[in-house]
Amino acid sequence: MPFVKTWIVPGTEHLVYLRQQPLEVFSRYIQQGMDSKEAGGILLGHVRGEHLEIIEATEPSFWDKRFRFLFERMPYFHHRLAMKRWKESNGLVRYIGEWHTHPQNYPSPSSIDLKEWQILAADRVDGRPLLALIVGCKDIHVEYMSGAGKRNILEPASFRRGEESVFLN
Ligand SMILES: [Zn+2]
Repeated sequence: MPFVKTWIVPGTEHLVYLRQQPLEVFSRYIQQGMDSKEAGGILLGHVRGEHLEIIEATEPSFWDKRFRFLFERMPYFHHRLAMKRWKESNGLVRYIGEWHTHPQNYPSPSSIDLKEWQILAADRVDGRPLLALIVGCKDIHVEYMSGAGKRNILEPASFRRGEESVFLN
């Protein structure tokens, strides 16, 4: 079952669009078997006005610690890659947020997830909220977390004709 590509912030017209690369990475790490481990990485993308386009999800690195119910990210590799993309794109591609998997069909964040996201959001130099994403077996959970701890859970958006052009120029 393919994941929803386009998400909307409720009560607004703000869209988050997932390109093919992140969707493929998520599919590779879905936690299906009993011995599967949590995986995760960072999300890189473009800010397009009020919209966000996620173009790349980094994959777990050799240094990350993967367990069934915990993914501990070793930030060095991921942040080095974020800097590289930022430079290559003259500042167009930037760090947007984080993703990890859960062994749940319809994933929801743990209290540890929420705490970590808030710390990461407060650390962002551009002052934007963090996009936090959890990949479950049948669905993904997408939310914005602000540095002050304000959550905004996104909803699937039906992709109307015309909206797509926002992301294709
Ligand atoms: Zn989690």
